[in-house]
Amino acid sequence: MRHDDLATAQALPGAGADEVPDPVMRTVGTVCRSCGAMLKHAVVDLGMSPLCESFLRAEDLDRMEPFYPLKVWVCDSCYLVQLEAYVGGEEIFTEYAYFSAFSDSWLQHARRYTDAMIERFGLGATSQVVEVASNDGYLLQYFVQQGVPCLGVEPAQNVAKAAVERGVPTLVKFFGRETARQLVSAGQQADLLLGNNVLAQVPDLNDFIGGLKIALKPQGVITIEFPHLMRLVAENQFDTIYHEHYSYFSFLTAEKLFAAHGLVLFDVDELPTHGGSLRIYGRHAEDPSKSVTARALELHQRELDAGVWTLDYYADFDERVRETKRKLLDFLIAARRAGKRVVGYGAPGKGNTLLNYCGIRTDFVDFTVDRNPYKHGRFLPGTHIPIHEPDALRDARPDYVLILPWNLKDEIMAQLAFIREWGGKFVVPIPETTVYS
Ligand SMILES: [Zn+2]
Repeated sequence: MRHDDLATAQALPGAGADEVPDPVMRTVGTVCRSCGAMLKHAVVDLGMSPLCESFLRAEDLDRMEPFYPLKVWVCDSCYLVQLEAYVGGEEIFTEYAYFSAFSDSWLQHARRYTDAMIERFGLGATSQVVEVASNDGYLLQYFVQQGVPCLGVEPAQNVAKAAVERGVPTLVKFFGRETARQLVSAGQQADLLLGNNVLAQVPDLNDFIGGLKIALKPQGVITIEFPHLMRLVAENQFDTIYHEHYSYFSFLTAEKLFAAHGLVLFDVDELPTHGGSLRIYGRHAEDPSKSVTARALELHQRELDAGVWTLDYYADFDERVRETKRKLLDFLIAARRAGKRVVGYGAPGKGNTLLNYCGIRTDFVDFTVDRNPYKHGRFLPGTHIPIHEPDALRDARPDYVLILPWNLKDEIMAQLAFIREWGGKFVVPIPETTVYS
């Protein structure tokens, strides 16, 4: 999910155009990456931001750092919320820092998913599971353990290598129609075809969904997980917007895109992961064996009732984002004036959007810590806040720990319960600044 598809992004109409879009309405510019309609309506402008996974080494700190616009649009035809692809493939993911196997709760999520799919769809030794953007094989390993044949498709070579080392067969490829045809020729059409947190990063959505249609057996099932746009809007999760995430989906907009490729969404789960995600279940339109569930119909109607397919739904998001920034800065200014020490926990992509948008640097947050050894000794992009090992928290005895991956706040507060020994408190910035003692 890194190089190949981002190279495709540069070929999108309008990407890299010189013109500066009008902030409110424009008549020329980029088209919707789902339906091709002209994008005319801005949802929120987060200003200029560096790429959120470009962690800096000490020797980079005195160099120029590229910043790109972080401005979100909504299509008034299919209501896909999206960014323009400002950034070319060479600049994103040249060093891919994220290995998903580092989060305990995410591994538990993957294992529960595996058990549920095996039971619900009767998967076994004669089935074929295919995962697109399979990362380091953290999920497929559970299918391997249960004797279900599986194949990962993962474009990042170093990440795919880690998967193969743990016994997960992995094809080093970007997924789209061409790769799907190769799978079919190799006899690897899927009974279960899954993709978790990949849809947002696909620049050519139609090639990707077209590939799903090809790679799926006649009675096969697709499951795709992505953060739910309704939660993003309702809970101010603006920090989940970053250059690597091109698209933000509601159930309605996903239904429309899949339908354009002859696929029906017949079920949906609402999950707590990533601040609120959907797991959609797709099948061929020609497959009568699975009827659309009451849950899918209910969510469809709930989104319609909420106005997700109207421009009004997005109208006050920009102002709520600004107010979230003011509240966080109010807290930090008061804390630092009172001589309190504030450090961060985590160095996720969302943290970098938040800190850059709010202008929070080492003037407010001394350092952050992260469990991923790749990040130790490096610095956050844009804000240059240093990243240490988690043990640095014990030595520093901070008054406040600002939790940047707020979607994991319960897990993190449990792990770091020891900060209460010296009266330390937790601060969670989203949906609004909240202190937990
Ligand atoms: Zn559209």
